[in-house]
Amino acid sequence: MLRRVLIANRGEIAVRIIRGCREMGIESVAVFSDADRRSPHVLLADHAVRIGPPPSVDSYLRADRLVEAALATGADAIHPGYGFLAERAEFARLVTEAGLVFVGPEAGTIAAMGDKTEARRRMRAAGVPIVPGAVDAVASPEEAETIADELGFPVLLKAAAGGGGKGMRVVTEPGGLARAFEGARREAEAAFGDGSIYVERYLDRPRHIEIQVLGDRHGTIVHLGERECSIQRRHQKLVEEAPSPVLSAEERERMGRAAVAAAAAVDYVGAGTIEFLYQDGEFYFLEMNTRLQVEHPVTECVTGIDLVEWQLRVAAGEPLAFTQEDIRLVGHAIECRITSEDVAAGFLPATGVVRTLGIPQGAGVRWDGGIGEGFAVGLHYDPLLGKLIVHGADRNQAIARMRRALGELLIEGVATSVPFHTAVMVEPDFMRGDLTIRYVEEHEQTLVGTLEPERAANLAVAIALLEHDARNRARGPRRGPDGAGFSAWRQAALPVQPTGRPWPRRP
Ligand code: ADP
Repeated sequence: MLRRVLIANRGEIAVRIIRGCREMGIESVAVFSDADRRSPHVLLADHAVRIGPPPSVDSYLRADRLVEAALATGADAIHPGYGFLAERAEFARLVTEAGLVFVGPEAGTIAAMGDKTEARRRMRAAGVPIVPGAVDAVASPEEAETIADELGFPVLLKAAAGGGGKGMRVVTEPGGLARAFEGARREAEAAFGDGSIYVERYLDRPRHIEIQVLGDRHGTIVHLGERECSIQRRHQKLVEEAPSPVLSAEERERMGRAAVAAAAAVDYVGAGTIEFLYQDGEFYFLEMNTRLQVEHPVTECVTGIDLVEWQLRVAAGEPLAFTQEDIRLVGHAIECRITSEDVAAGFLPATGVVRTLGIPQGAGVRWDGGIGEGFAVGLHYDPLLGKLIVHGADRNQAIARMRRALGELLIEGVATSVPFHTAVMVEPDFMRGDLTIRYVEEHEQTLVGTLEPERAANLAVAIALLEHDARNRARGPRRGPDGAGFSAWRQAALPVQPTGRPWPRRP
């Protein structure tokens, strides 16, 4: 087993990994920039090393300093978390060359999956359905047009080296190809130093559904079911759930098998995610993320498998202790990514100092956070403050639980995305599970524009109580301690403040 692990990350994911280490008796080494000197991940870890000034390029992206810190503190492994250097093949290589264990797949696997055309080639060879289109980069707009004519418009031009939605252009008719091609190429060149572009069909109403895989060093790969991640804004996921409200058991099985084949095609070791687009009962490989995913907790909830624990065990060479048949999905889990973004101002990044932090508790609620009271939210890093995760017996219970938990979550001192999440949880299409990747843009008015945060919170609480009441009535009369019948209205209405939050507000 590993003895001491350096976590090359910050925020909620560093905290999550430190917790995993502690449960396994592994010592943790945190790293921090000057902006994070007193952040929760630093306070929680067994050891902490300063790696530089606040900008990521001078701190969390400094591969050399991270490896140096690991060697200096006697760590035997580095866990990269997600983001930062997690999917940089050179970093994995550097770590291994220093004689340390990289908690993740081989550098070669990361490199192969980081190139979209290479990944598509490998997936096609492994029999995994890919979005119809080319697997090679095209050299000119004319070549792109030939492919587009065959596929039919609209098409999507994509950068082979792409990431974060950069170097992507939707083209609806032949006349737009030349300009879009040049635009995509320029953007990709600037962002990735590689202007290779390829063409694929543009799906108009897909869902984003991804499968979690886990592989060990002994050739076993299993999948842990899917996550529905269609609720996105500018390609950033905002709400995720497991399982997807639409997949049948047969589809889950088919997608799961395809995901395992995809992972096997690159000898995958560790936790990884195969992302698919799903439309009209068909699914297509989109990309593989060769790391732990932000939304991994919903999978942990429904499978009961601790993904960080298994990342660490597999990295140490242990075989998986379960087979595909052992993995059962129980109940339904939802995650809301709570960010420091001002929803009413169009998701404008917000700054401030967290004055009050009230974390929801009670059955089926989990908070994976990276903040504490007094925490200064700046603009150096991504705006994720924490993740609110709920697990219920079924989707309806999970939704009711999330509404309740969002109502209890209190973050004062910085604007957050809570009003958005609260609005989603009462939005009828969401409640029906009727989602596509266009969900947020198509519901912008309801979710962002018209609903005052306070009203949305009140509405959520009111609806949750109504449903609770209806369920209780369906179950027959319940008696209070004094023998009198009582309803959820009376029970729950009392402690709820007019804001819809049960926490007292500080003046
Ligand atoms: P990146 O690596 O830049 O994030 P992806 O290939 O993962 O690029 O695509 C980002 C997002 O763009 C997807 O989550 C999806 O919302 C949308 N997208 C990608 N490919 C297609 C497609 N062929 N049709 C429709 N939407 C797509």
